[in-house]
Amino acid sequence: MKNSACNEAINRPRRHAGGPPFWKTTALEQLHPEQWEALCDGCGRCCLQKFQNGKTGKVTYTWVACYLLDTWACRCTDYANRTAQVPTCLALTPGQIPRLRWLPKTCAYRRLSEGKDLEPWHPLVSGDPSLVHRAGISVRDKAISEIYVHPEDVEYYTVGYRI
Ligand code: SF4
Ligand code: SF4
Repeated sequence: MKNSACNEAINRPRRHAGGPPFWKTTALEQLHPEQWEALCDGCGRCCLQKFQNGKTGKVTYTWVACYLLDTWACRCTDYANRTAQVPTCLALTPGQIPRLRWLPKTCAYRRLSEGKDLEPWHPLVSGDPSLVHRAGISVRDKAISEIYVHPEDVEYYTVGYRI
C-alpha cells in the first residue's frame, strides 16, 4: 500500500441555525457534496505512505507523504486531479468508509461511520481550521515528502504508534 485518500476541508462551520449540526442529523450517504468535503479535518494523515503486512493485513503508517501533499498546509496541491496524478489515491465515498480500516482513528469519516462524534479540534466544531495543527493531529512538522526519501528508505520513517 502506498498512498491513500484525502478529502479537502471547506473550513467554515455548517450548522443548521438553531439546530443540531448536519453531521448529527444526516447519514454520510445523504450528505450534500459540500457537507461531505467539509467533514475532512485537513489532517493529511491519509496521505502518508503505509505498509501492509501480507499475512496479518496490519497497516503501518510512515511519515513519508505523497509528493502532492503540501506538508505544511496538509492539503493536496492538485486535489481536483488527484486520482489521475496519483493512481493509488482513493477518492473517498460513503460506501467505502466502513471497509477502509486503515483510515486514521481520528478521521472524521471513520469516526462518523463508527457512530462517534467529531473531535473538539475538528474545524466544524471549533470554528478554527488551525486547531487541527495546534492539537498535534495533522502531519504538519512531522511528515516528509516522498520527493526527499529514497523508496528503499521509507521503512525508516515508520510511525511508532497507531494513528
Ligand atoms: S484522514 Fe480523513 S480527515 Fe484526515 S485528511 Fe484524510 S480524509 Fe481528511
Ligand atoms: S494525491 Fe493528494 S489527496 Fe491523494 S494521497 Fe496524494 S496528496 Fe493525498
